[in-house]
Order: sequence, then C-alpha cells, then structure tokens
Amino acid sequence: MLLRKLKNKKVVQGPSLHHFGNVKDYIRSIVEMNINITDEDFEKLIAKALDELPKEQTANLNNVAITFGSSPTPDQAKKLKLRGDSLLLGLYEGIPLTRRTGNYSLVLPDKITIFKDQILKLAKDKTQLFAIVKHTLWHEIAHFYGLDHEQIHKIEGHWKT
Ligand SMILES: [Zn+2]
Repeated sequence: MLLRKLKNKKVVQGPSLHHFGNVKDYIRSIVEMNINITDEDFEKLIAKALDELPKEQTANLNNVAITFGSSPTPDQAKKLKLRGDSLLLGLYEGIPLTRRTGNYSLVLPDKITIFKDQILKLAKDKTQLFAIVKHTLWHEIAHFYGLDHEQIHKIEGHWKT
C-alpha cells in the first residue's frame, strides 16, 4: 500500500502565494488544481507506466492482475485502518513471490489496485499524475517481490512524486 497524507499536499505541493498576482488567482488555482482523466486514458497511463518500469522488475509478474478502482472499498479501508486524512494510492493483495511454495498453484491471481480518485486528489498536472501512477505501480510491485515498507523506503528515496 502506498499512503500519502492529504494535508501535506497543501503545504508541500500547493502553489505558493508569490506565484500569483492576487488572492483571487490564487484561490482559482487551488480550485482548478484537480485534473480530469477518463477511465480509458487512466488505463493507458497504467500500461505506459508499466512499460517504463525496469524490465527486470516487470518480467516476473506471474499471476498478478493489475487493475484500478476509484477509491478503496469500505472493507479495504477498515482492514487497513485508513484515516480520513490519508490517501491510499495503491494496494497489493496476494501472496508475494518470496512466500510462494511448491503448493502455489490454482490460486486466485494477486491483485494490484491503483486508486484513480485518490491519485487525482494529489496530482496537480498530467506530468505529476503519470509520475505518481508509475511510483505507485513500482511500490506495489515491490510488495509482490516480498519487500516490506522499510526496504521499500530505502529504495524509494529517489522518487520525487
Ligand atoms: Zn506499501
């Protein structure tokens, strides 16, 4: 799972006041910050992100369905103990490669879900949208390889989404 604090966005990534001539422009810039994208285009974005990830990371994605939803279901939110000020960008559900034994067969595919509406709340333009989708995908695939958050965060340092 990749969580982001909604509150931080406003502080860290919101447009700063001095970029704008007056308060009215500033307010409009905040209101119009959320971007729109159709489900079809979002799906294409995921495919493109997957394409751009290192092949050594994506080549072994066996029995993994990559999908997207709008936001976590109430069940998922409860299970993950999500708080109101947190955005869940992506979720990996399944049996990581490192825990698959000889008995691993005839099981349901793992699932990676990218949460479109949550990511849209964070992205201020299409470039950033793509970067977040790619980062989220990378993060969830890392879980598929059995990495925990401590290990992921060590590698994640270079992501600037
Ligand atoms: Zn995670």
